[in-house]
Amino acid sequence: MKIVLLGPPGAGKGTQAKSISNRYSIPHISTGDIFRKNISENTPLGIEAKKYIDKGQLVPDEVTINMVKDRLQEDDCKSGFLLDGFPRTVIQAEALQEFLLERDKNLDTALLIEVPTEFILERMTGRRVCPSCGASYHIKYNPPIHGDKCDVCGSDIIQRKDDSEETVSERLDVYKKQTQPLIDFYKEKNLLSVVDGTKAINEVFEGICALLGDFE
Ligand code: ADP
Ligand code: AMP
Repeated sequence: MKIVLLGPPGAGKGTQAKSISNRYSIPHISTGDIFRKNISENTPLGIEAKKYIDKGQLVPDEVTINMVKDRLQEDDCKSGFLLDGFPRTVIQAEALQEFLLERDKNLDTALLIEVPTEFILERMTGRRVCPSCGASYHIKYNPPIHGDKCDVCGSDIIQRKDDSEETVSERLDVYKKQTQPLIDFYKEKNLLSVVDGTKAINEVFEGICALLGDFE
């Protein structure tokens, strides 16, 4: 299966992507995770990306598109993939269509996790992540079992720098201007599926599985 996850920051894309990836045995490709790994390793890509990420802005298309194309050419993507956080601009979406078309492939669906803006601030400011293994939590809706230690690896969990209240509002503006138009982009191509992302995490996953059943 070849899937793109759409939705505002904090919609639950990363949370659902982990479960979808396990259930359907497809690699979860999160551009945000790739950038953060590069930042933690201080690579040239990480140094470049950090300038934008810390301000809540998008990393330039050219950098991001090349990074994703490289990743999609790895062996584990032969049977499919789940893109989380990409595309985020119409230019990125067109580049992905072209990349797939050149290989006689197409997306199965662009799955929008629909969450109104009023939910987003609480979801993003309450998000905590493990800097070691990347596991993600929410202080209220998905807290770790042992205080502020990661359930998976025991490291101290932290708040992402770009989840502070000021940066969140910039990220929402960026989403509305640059990413929201992708909903119409995929609707026009008859590729859009929509799931209600306001429900509990497991209920959203059930909704997603019901939709994805059609593409198995
Ligand atoms: P995204 O990848 O879309 O930015 P995340 O998956 O990281 O979003 O989710 C943002 C925050 O909201 C996390 O702290 C996560 O635990 C929490 N969250 C995700 N889905 C739900 C949900 N359905 N209900 C409540 N909280 C959720
Ligand atoms: P995320 O983990 O998806 O919330 O992404 C964190 C940040 O990484 C975003 O706010 C952007 O600065 C950057 N980023 C992630 N994906 C993309 C993308 N497809 N295009 C441009 N910037 C991106």
